[in-house]
Amino acid sequence: MSTYLERAEEMRDQLVATRRDFHKHPELYFQEVRTARKITEHLDNLGIEYTTGVAKTGVVAHLGEGAPVIALRADMDALPILEANDVEYKSENEGIMHACGHDAHVTCLMGAATMLAQDFAAGRLKGTVRFLFQPAEESEDEEGKSGGQRMVQEHALEGVDAVVGMHVISTLPANRVFVREGPVMAAVDSFEARVIGRGGHGAYPHEGLDPIWLSAQVINGIHGVLSRRKHPVEPGLITVGAIHAGKAGNVIPVEVEMVGTIRSFSQETRLLLHRELENAFRITQAFGGDYHLQIKYGYPVTVNDPEMARFVRRMASDLIGADRVQEGTIEMGAEDFSFMAQAAPGAFFYLGAKKDEATRLHHAPDFDIDENILPTGAALMAEAARKYLEENAVEE
Ligand SMILES: [Zn+2]
Ligand SMILES: [Zn+2]
Repeated sequence: MSTYLERAEEMRDQLVATRRDFHKHPELYFQEVRTARKITEHLDNLGIEYTTGVAKTGVVAHLGEGAPVIALRADMDALPILEANDVEYKSENEGIMHACGHDAHVTCLMGAATMLAQDFAAGRLKGTVRFLFQPAEESEDEEGKSGGQRMVQEHALEGVDAVVGMHVISTLPANRVFVREGPVMAAVDSFEARVIGRGGHGAYPHEGLDPIWLSAQVINGIHGVLSRRKHPVEPGLITVGAIHAGKAGNVIPVEVEMVGTIRSFSQETRLLLHRELENAFRITQAFGGDYHLQIKYGYPVTVNDPEMARFVRRMASDLIGADRVQEGTIEMGAEDFSFMAQAAPGAFFYLGAKKDEATRLHHAPDFDIDENILPTGAALMAEAARKYLEENAVEE
C-alpha cells in the first residue's frame, strides 16, 4: 500500500484545481454558502455522511463509527481584501480574497477525506474520523461569536478524543511542518475607549481641557505598562490601532476615540493588562478629564496538548522526514481553533507554504502560497487521522 503522500501526489492536479476554484470564489465569514456546497458535493461523491448549517454555514461530516474519535478541522472563510495578484485564479468576488490560505485548508481536508474514505471502505481503518469544515475564523458575528466558538457550542466536538488543525504559513519554507507543545497563539481581546476633555478655542487651551493631550499621556501610560508593569519574560502586548479626534487646527475637540487590541498567553497576564490599561486611562482623571473604556473578550490562547503535539511531530516526521519537521514558535496572532483545543486535546501545526522570493504576508493583497504544499497538507491530515486511530485502537 502506498503512503498518503504518494496517493496525494497522484491527486495533485485535482487538489490544485479545487484550491483555485475556492480562491476564485472567496466568501466572507458566515457567508460560506458556495464553499459549503462544493464541500458537500465532494462528500456526496465519496458517500460520506454530513450535517450542514452547523455554526450557520459549517459542515460536519464523519467516516466510520465508534471509538476512538479524531476530528480534523479546516476553516473556510476569506477576508475583505482586494486581491492584487495577477494570476489565472485571481478572486472573482471583488474586494474579497482568500488572503490567509483557508482555501488551501479546505482543499487539503477534502483530499484527506478522499483517501480516508477509500481506506474505511476497504476495511483498513477502525474508529471515527470527524471532519469539521468551519466558517468564520477571521471574524465574529453580531453576538461576538466566531465559527469555531459556535461549532463547539453546537456540540460538534462532543465525544471527540482529539482534534487536529493545520494552518499554511506563506512566510515559512514550503513543505516543512512546524509544531510545538503548549501555547502556540495568543489570546486576543479588544478595547474601545473615549477620552473626554472640554472643547474650546485652540488659542486658549487653558480654558478648555485638551483630550488630545490627555490621550498622549494615556498612550505613553499604555506603552509603559508593557515594560514596567508586566513581567518582562511574559509575552503580552497592547496596540492602539486607531485614534480619532478633532476637525480643525484651531479647535480643541471635546473627546478622542481610541480602539486597540490586547494579546497575552496566560490568564494572569491577560487580567493584568486589562487592569493596567484601565489605570493608564485613569491618568485623564488626574487632570480633570474622564474616560469610558470597554474591554471585549476575544479568542482564548491556543494551547497544544503536549501529547498531541508530540504525536503530530512523530506523525509528520514519519511521513515527510524528520529533517522537514521543526519546532514551532509562539505567535502573537490568534486563532479560534483555541475553542476546539479547549473542548478536546488538540494540536495546531503550521505547514510552510512560501511561494517565491516575494514577502507575501497573511492578510496582504499579494498573499499567495506555493501550491506544491497541497498534496503534503492532504497527506498530513489523512495520516494524522489514520495513525491516531491505529495507535488508540479499542480492544475488541
Ligand atoms: Zn487570517
Ligand atoms: Zn487563518
